[in-house]
Amino acid sequence: MNGTGEGGRIDPADWDSFGEELHGLLDDCLTRLSTARAHHWQEPPADMAARVALDGPPISMEGLREILTRDVMPFGTTHTHPKFWGWVHGTGMAQALASEMVGVAMNANLGGRHQGAVEVERAVVDWCARTAGLPSEAFGIIVSGTSQATVLAIASARIAAFGTRIREAGIAGLPPLRVYIAEGGHSCVDKALQLLGHGSKALRTIPVERESGAMDTDALRAAIAEDRAAGVHPFMIVGTAGSVNLGTYDDFPALADVAEAEGMWLHIDAAFGFWTRIAPGPIRLLTDGIERADSIAADFHKWMAVPYACGICLVRDGARLTETFKSRPDYLAQAGAGLAAGDLWFCDYGMELSRGFLGLKVWCALRAVGAERLGQVIADNCRQAQLMGALAEAAAEFDLVRPVVSNLCVFAPRVGDAEAMVARLQLEGRGVFSTTRVDGRVCFRAAIVNHRTTEADIREAMAAAAEVAR
Ligand SMILES: *Cc1c(COP(=O)(O)O)cnc(C)c1O
Repeated sequence: MNGTGEGGRIDPADWDSFGEELHGLLDDCLTRLSTARAHHWQEPPADMAARVALDGPPISMEGLREILTRDVMPFGTTHTHPKFWGWVHGTGMAQALASEMVGVAMNANLGGRHQGAVEVERAVVDWCARTAGLPSEAFGIIVSGTSQATVLAIASARIAAFGTRIREAGIAGLPPLRVYIAEGGHSCVDKALQLLGHGSKALRTIPVERESGAMDTDALRAAIAEDRAAGVHPFMIVGTAGSVNLGTYDDFPALADVAEAEGMWLHIDAAFGFWTRIAPGPIRLLTDGIERADSIAADFHKWMAVPYACGICLVRDGARLTETFKSRPDYLAQAGAGLAAGDLWFCDYGMELSRGFLGLKVWCALRAVGAERLGQVIADNCRQAQLMGALAEAAAEFDLVRPVVSNLCVFAPRVGDAEAMVARLQLEGRGVFSTTRVDGRVCFRAAIVNHRTTEADIREAMAAAAEVAR
């Protein structure tokens, strides 16, 4: 659609017809979501690249709507489907259409300035800190996910250990650092250490206890003592709340005791497992002791059903974040009045200056659905994983390779190629598992973080899996 000249080159020339098409597109989105069960993953069409090639003149809103609904919307990973359990893909929620629309209408930039929208994000961060059980001086920042939150947490821990002088001097004068993580810990910690200049060699993997899958704290203590004797600085323990492979949880009170005794920072990767804090019943116990962490990374976009990309970095002493990241050149100076006032500029708490209104989608989820119902989904998913485990154990075709601890289930076919079986189920639209390797065996892996899944879905998919295995 052509603009009408200066000051009007981008706004729709006709708001009425634009609005009509946009309302239609919203209806298309609602239809897509209300019929999520009818849309499973399909292979991208052979001409996908041609369909979305950036050529030709600008198109009308009508044309845009057509391309978006026909050529874009159907061809994602489709983890909106109730039988999607691969990797750890959150399902999202329709209510977020509201937060996304409002965020765009405001064109919100939550980096700073004196604006009421900041209070929405403050409310979300405070709610998360309270949910964790952290003290009142805890604070944090909403970021794109746990990978980014981990970078911020490690950078803050470094300032806590060595002081703000390293912001100028860098890390060249520091002793070699060591970070300890249980076997099966997520690769985002390794990546963060690479980015921050310590390299993968700074990471030491500690074995886990066979039964619980939790980090072996005796082995941890021994590793710390050995490193200290060798002149390496034991710097941080990374606990895991919900390991990506097996859904296991470390013993946080035990890790906190070691961190305290050794003067180390305790960070917890709680990407999805954090939300067991809001679940009813015994599942909540899995994260007991998380309140003793110095920092926590968690995702809203997995088990909280907030759409991508959205996570949080929480720090026990919130001031560590500003000590690490606050930087206010003249063009960002604080003022006592006007837009440059305001007591909370999130650019002081992380790397990004310009930030979208990530907190709004979490706020909408909490207002529109509420923590209680979100917590019930978490309990449902854990029960469904138990059922899947029981069905795998009972099936002649499969071995359950580990007991189900939370929402993850890992089982292996007795004969045949698990990878081919998983791909076939995906291609036939009969359920999405991913694969992993446990004890050298390639396994089916389900990480259930899906509010649309029912017990019947689990039974059907397991029957389909058995059929394919035969
Ligand atoms: C997904 C995940 C991460 C990485 O989080 P992103 O939000 O994808 O950056 C880290 N740790 C665990 C346990 C995860 O499941």
